[in-house]
Amino acid sequence: MKILVINAGSSSIKFKLLEMPSEILHCEGMVERIGAKNALLKYSKGDKHLEATMEVLTHKVALEKITGYLLDREIGVISDTREIDAVGHRVVHGGNRYSKTTLIDREVKDQIREFSPLAPLHNPHNLEGILMTEQVFPMAKQVAVFDTAFHQTMPVKARKYAIPNVFYAHHGIQAYGFHGTSHKYVSERAMDYMKHPKAKLVTIHLGNGCSITAVSGGKSMAHSLGFAPSNGLIMGSRSGDIDHSIIFYMVEGLGYSLKEVNRILTNESGMLGLTGNGDLRDIEARAENGDAECILALEMNAYRIKKYIGAYAAVMNGLDAIVFTAGIGENSSKIRKLVCCDMEYLGIVLNNASNNSRSKDLREIQTDHSKVKVLVIPTKEELEIAKQAYQLLV
Ligand code: AMP
Repeated sequence: MKILVINAGSSSIKFKLLEMPSEILHCEGMVERIGAKNALLKYSKGDKHLEATMEVLTHKVALEKITGYLLDREIGVISDTREIDAVGHRVVHGGNRYSKTTLIDREVKDQIREFSPLAPLHNPHNLEGILMTEQVFPMAKQVAVFDTAFHQTMPVKARKYAIPNVFYAHHGIQAYGFHGTSHKYVSERAMDYMKHPKAKLVTIHLGNGCSITAVSGGKSMAHSLGFAPSNGLIMGSRSGDIDHSIIFYMVEGLGYSLKEVNRILTNESGMLGLTGNGDLRDIEARAENGDAECILALEMNAYRIKKYIGAYAAVMNGLDAIVFTAGIGENSSKIRKLVCCDMEYLGIVLNNASNNSRSKDLREIQTDHSKVKVLVIPTKEELEIAKQAYQLLV
């Protein structure tokens, strides 16, 4: 079964075409800067890589360009759009309604639209991706895989905020959780690898967006992102946890508008706000050269992660493994070392040599006498989406 996985964002569409269940990757790529005259198209098939810059003003045009590559006689992988059996869509917000991957019909589209105010930067574009692929691949089954679905198992005590009940009961204000596809994928891989289906895990997704989940017996029990993807860990440009009275002080005491405060906390904070740079590779390089701001920012980042590991070990009454994943989690031995130092009390002891290994596979990086395993597991969100779509359709 050929499954096209689509991740449609505000100005980009990423895609992968996978054969399922063999998991063979036919091709992958993305269109970036949709809406601009100099949009960037990237396409890879095996060891062939293409890049082109051109005007792509709408998501529909972007999808047509992608389809053009898929059908191309030389570098394409299909000869007819009917060869695509299904399209798996990443949809960020499924509210409380969707705890599972779902076949898309009119009602599902209406619901995704209804949840748009809860994820204004994501859901409208996810929906547009769906509407466009329905036109381009009318014969394919369309499947939605929700970022929030994995966290539907969080108990009410973990998801409800201590504000008047009416906001929970009538306005949907609660912690929903995000990055669910990634946390699900790496936690399942960890449980398989450890041959321990009841394992108590803390999965740590560190990319541009960052989040951490307590997973017990395969179920999400607690998670750092809340009502929107802004709470919790320090991210590339998002602050993560702050005292909400700061927002009132910025508005009432310092004269910022609410819109400006939102922009500051979302786009100008986190590692970017602390160092002037949102890319961890640059921050690490500057820290190596003694830059005090960068050294402190890395320490703050790791300190926040440590706090959550401790909290989640307490929540689960135990800890069998912590799992690092995504761009930073998979690649930054520095952050992993800062997080894992002085954690003997919790049973976490890092092996520095294994931590520094550059292997790209699942690996253990703790010492032999560490009670808790420390795993690095590359996340494969697109593969997880394809897997879930396949399981739904067979
Ligand atoms: P993602 O959102 O998963 O693509 O991750 C993006 C983040 O991963 C960026 O902050 C990058 O700086 C970071 N990253 C990617 N490669 C490395 C690396 N080799 N060392 C440190 N950070 C990295």
